[in-house]
Amino acid sequence: MNFELSEDQRAIQQMVREFAQGELMPRVRDLDREERFDPWVLKRMGELGILGLCLPRKYQGGGMDYLSLGLACEELEYVDSAFREILSVHTALVGLTLMQWATLEQKERFLVPMATGAKIAAFGLTEPGAGSDVAALESRYRREGDAFLLSGDKLWISLADVADLFLVFARRSPGRDPREISAFLVERGRPGLETETLHHKLGVRAGNTGGIHMREVRVPAENLLGQEGEGFKIAMSALDNGRLTVAAGATGMARACLEASVRYAKERETFGRPIAEHQLVQQMIARMVEGYESSRLLYAWAASLKNQGKRCTRETSLAKLHACDAGFQAAADAVEIHGAYGFSDEFPVSRHLRNAKGEMIYEGTREIHLLMQAGYALGSREDRPLRCSLPPWPFPEDVEAGLA
Ligand SMILES: Cc1cc2nc3c(=O)[nH]c(=O)nc-3n(C[C@H](O)[C@H](O)[C@H](O)COP(=O)(O)OP(=O)(O)OC[C@H]3O[C@@H](n4cnc5c(N)ncnc54)[C@H](O)[C@@H]3O)c2cc1C
Repeated sequence: MNFELSEDQRAIQQMVREFAQGELMPRVRDLDREERFDPWVLKRMGELGILGLCLPRKYQGGGMDYLSLGLACEELEYVDSAFREILSVHTALVGLTLMQWATLEQKERFLVPMATGAKIAAFGLTEPGAGSDVAALESRYRREGDAFLLSGDKLWISLADVADLFLVFARRSPGRDPREISAFLVERGRPGLETETLHHKLGVRAGNTGGIHMREVRVPAENLLGQEGEGFKIAMSALDNGRLTVAAGATGMARACLEASVRYAKERETFGRPIAEHQLVQQMIARMVEGYESSRLLYAWAASLKNQGKRCTRETSLAKLHACDAGFQAAADAVEIHGAYGFSDEFPVSRHLRNAKGEMIYEGTREIHLLMQAGYALGSREDRPLRCSLPPWPFPEDVEAGLA
């Protein structure tokens, strides 16, 4: 087991850190206050190669591994969840899922513009009446000649109002049968497709979250991802890709809260000494260290299994569950350490606390991950190989093309 980062991984970490702290940090408080998503962020992330960093070089990505993706997410969320969410949705939930399930032609059509940031992708699974219970989704599709017609509403979709491409899920017949669900790639601009932005959210206010509304949207048959009826499996495998990034992001939030708290505790004095000397404050700082370091190990473990091409739904779920709890606890403790100042947005910790609640909801709520872990422990759940697995790293397509 090697805990050292490679030179390339350190370089990615450093580059994203400089971007996040140098360019995003000075803007984030205003964006959060104004509840405004700034498309400039996408442009810069595309220019820097962050959006495609772990997509194959063959498709104009950076060809980096899954741990590098986690490191980038950690650095982005050190500043704000909204910036990390971009990688979670565009790169992991859609990009990696295309690597897993798309045909060669679909990869060339969709992954190349995604890798460079020319096109931004969103993931439309959740509906007004179906979140945790994915099989209850009601969006419908029907075949008409060489096309599919899609109708339905998706809600709480990150990047909904700014994306160019949507990976959406719909069912062929009413009911709850997951084998009736299929996955489609829908480009913005198709008649019948509209999007909206949700306002007044508790957190992720510098991010875009919204709805996708489809009324008889016609997509060509070649926009079907996987086979008809494989949509539920595709959605679950996508979440397995995305959860790694949420775990890594939450780890970055825990680190941000820890560092802010250490700084503040050394400066702020009560009863004639810095609050850092009070043991109850030290206890909170120690708990942040514990949460941060253990979360880091868990997401690195999941990333390393993904690099080996192994299915690791259990480990990824555990990393997501643990890191989101640790991030939330760290943010709550950090607000406490900052006293009344933690209650304002003068310091970033209150923003982290609001954001922390979001990541305990999306990509599987806390309760869903607890149920999953109990299922693995009790033997009612096990990970079997999928028809299309996430490729190991270095990516076979890059190796074949002499690019790795
Ligand atoms: C900021 C944000 C961004 C998001 N981005 C996206 C996105 O990009 N794409 C997308 O498709 N979705 C997205 N979502 C939606 C998110 O994935 C769902 O909100 C989530 O899956 C939970 O679904 P729900 O809100 O319908 O809650 P519900 O499923 O209705 O759950 C409500 C409560 O009941 C609990 N519960 C449900 N079932 C059980 C059970 N069996 N046992 C015990 N407790 C249970 C839940 O844990 C929760 O506490 C986003 C959400 C947020 C907040």
